[in-house]
Amino acid sequence: MVSFYVPRGADYCEVEVRCGLTDPFGGRSICDTCASDPRTMADIQRHESSIAADNAWGASAGYGEY
Ligand SMILES: [Zn+2]
Repeated sequence: MVSFYVPRGADYCEVEVRCGLTDPFGGRSICDTCASDPRTMADIQRHESSIAADNAWGASAGYGEY
């Protein structure tokens, strides 16, 4: 599970998303284990580009260009 803090009124609310699913910001949630595994990240990026939802997510997540 990956934890996100999303604005909720004047406060923040913690939301847990299962690794690999869409996060509250429209990106893909990636747990620390996957983020530190180059093969997993390569699989994720290949899948992302195959569904052509890539550029905004890649830029916002800081993974650079494809
Ligand atoms: Zn994971």
